[in-house]
Amino acid sequence: MTTSKFSPDDDSFLRDFATMSRFGATPNGGVDRQAATAADGEQRRWLTGLLEARGFTVRFDRAGNQWGLYEAVPGAPFVVVGSHMDSQPTAGRYDGAYGVLAAAHAAFRLTEAWAAGAPGNPGTGAPKFNIAVVNWFNEEGSRFKPSMMGSSVYTGKLALETVLETTDAAGTSVREALDAIGGRGDYDGPEAAYCAEIHIEQGRSMERDGITIGLVHSNWAANKYEFVVHGEQAHTGSTVIADRKDALLGASMMVVAARELADQFPGVLHTSVGQLTVYPNSPVVVPSRVNLLLDLRSADEAVLAEADALLHQRIAGIERLANVTVERHQGHSWPVTPYQPQGVELAAKVAADLGLSSRQVMTLAGHDSTNMKDLVPTVMLFVPSVDGISHNEHEFTTDEDTVAGVAMLTEVLSRLCHGALADADIAGRDRV
Ligand SMILES: [Zn+2]
Repeated sequence: MTTSKFSPDDDSFLRDFATMSRFGATPNGGVDRQAATAADGEQRRWLTGLLEARGFTVRFDRAGNQWGLYEAVPGAPFVVVGSHMDSQPTAGRYDGAYGVLAAAHAAFRLTEAWAAGAPGNPGTGAPKFNIAVVNWFNEEGSRFKPSMMGSSVYTGKLALETVLETTDAAGTSVREALDAIGGRGDYDGPEAAYCAEIHIEQGRSMERDGITIGLVHSNWAANKYEFVVHGEQAHTGSTVIADRKDALLGASMMVVAARELADQFPGVLHTSVGQLTVYPNSPVVVPSRVNLLLDLRSADEAVLAEADALLHQRIAGIERLANVTVERHQGHSWPVTPYQPQGVELAAKVAADLGLSSRQVMTLAGHDSTNMKDLVPTVMLFVPSVDGISHNEHEFTTDEDTVAGVAMLTEVLSRLCHGALADADIAGRDRV
């Protein structure tokens, strides 16, 4: 018999985490579980079983979000807690999936304590709110754009019909893909009162500083652009250089321009081109068209605006140099916005009460909670990422940190269910 250094509850979480990581597992220890693929569908069925076995009712909404509902207070609104289980192609086991499973286990611990007659926090009495564990649809945005799709529909930022008609590179729509895995329901989702999400940091600052819990106070702003570089097809051998309109040359200059922009704002601007689609992508044809996804991110909106202006100046130059035209398609952007400070304070107090080291951090990446915080008071937590590695099969967080995160989330969820954030407000929204 082996003995574990963890509690039986933590061992149960770690076992479920290992089982969960088998869905879409890759030979190098990562996962490939893009939104509404067969692996995503299998994992959703597994999560349904896990939730139902613990007395939760599982429903799918019209946008493919998976909800595990527990009504302790009939008719009361819900504390929404979760993240996403879809992944980038060849990604790590922790991104998103950790947050969904942590949410499920936090909910199991609380609902079992309530069922056993435990009073919740001393002096607070019975819970005031119900629990909805959520697995948001298509947070990653790799197969279907944009990212954070399911939470954007739930929070009213994207229209359901637009989303259902969105197609992947093979022409399959979200509607068809969700129906193929049985992931589309007729539910509108529960009424939310509060939200909590835990996620890996995906950066190295917490590991470097020896911090176990990150208290996210705001998100970086981002501009995501879709450009199409237009040239003209020609023979790569026989066409003289002066006559070429090489779309890939123009696109390559944009890749370099994006990096040079980041170098102009060291440390405060992140830029990247993550996808190039080259047409016709043949060895002997000068490409006539390249679709390119480019993003700019900063914690400083003034820097982002300046970078946007500089990028467009560079594009005008690239059009002349490469003899191409660059068309800008609809992009996707979000500003720097704060999480409710009362939520950050609550989380800081929970961490202190549990003896976990914590400090405030910003999130550089977008998360479903970035949407949710505009709807209801939301608490966003991080656990450290070893070496900051993410969107990579070698993504790793230690067992000590993942179980500390579950304990943290459990206590935050408990206090939210007991109305601890009753005074928090939504920025810009009148109090009712
Ligand atoms: Zn994620």
